[in-house]
Amino acid sequence: MKASSGAQRQLLDLADLDAELARIAHRTRTLPEDAELAELAKQRDAARDDLVRAEIASEDLEREYKRIDSEINGMSAREAKDTALLQSGKLAPKALTELQHELAGLGRRRSVLEDELLSVMEQQEAVGAESERAQATVLDFDTKVAEATARRDAALSKLAADREVKAQRRGEVVAGVDAALLAIYDRERSQGRAGAALLRARRCGGCGMELDRGFIAKVTASADDEVVRCDECGTILVRTSESGL
Ligand SMILES: [Zn+2]
Repeated sequence: MKASSGAQRQLLDLADLDAELARIAHRTRTLPEDAELAELAKQRDAARDDLVRAEIASEDLEREYKRIDSEINGMSAREAKDTALLQSGKLAPKALTELQHELAGLGRRRSVLEDELLSVMEQQEAVGAESERAQATVLDFDTKVAEATARRDAALSKLAADREVKAQRRGEVVAGVDAALLAIYDRERSQGRAGAALLRARRCGGCGMELDRGFIAKVTASADDEVVRCDECGTILVRTSESGL
């Protein structure tokens, strides 16, 4: 196939633009902000779990507090009643002794319950502090997520703007490239290869292979408008003054 060296050189511009577009696409897929956001989401979820755990513990303690408090109140009522009976002076000695025993027992039980209540209150204080800490941590992560999201979105819109500029430029270049040449280029690109590359210092700019002497001799002998392909990778080898032929 033949194409003027000028037409072949346009393929180099096209390959450069496609390489830049591929870099932009890769950067879009692998933004560090996306990795950062995934990590932040994990940490925020963990903080939320801590908060939920603290809230459940707080509800359990509240129930426990009410149970003990209600038992103490019941006991106080019973003690008041027993004390009134005791002071009435109407009891037989045996009943009096039994009542005194009961009152002493109630007092001991109440003292135990009051200690338990104090312990519950201490736990409530600790859980309350833990809950506040977890809440603050969640809020902190919410802020970090919002900041990272803003940075990610800014990076994405910059990449999108770059992509638009390159895509427009690519459209202009493509419009000027010979259709048959473009077809070869596109077929090569679709198979993940460079499509077209500069031949420089006997090396294919597409695959990087050093081409053998026989091949180079053939290339040197061929006319400028002959389209030469790398015999290693099929890339169109564009010859310029930099090729060192
Ligand atoms: Zn090659």
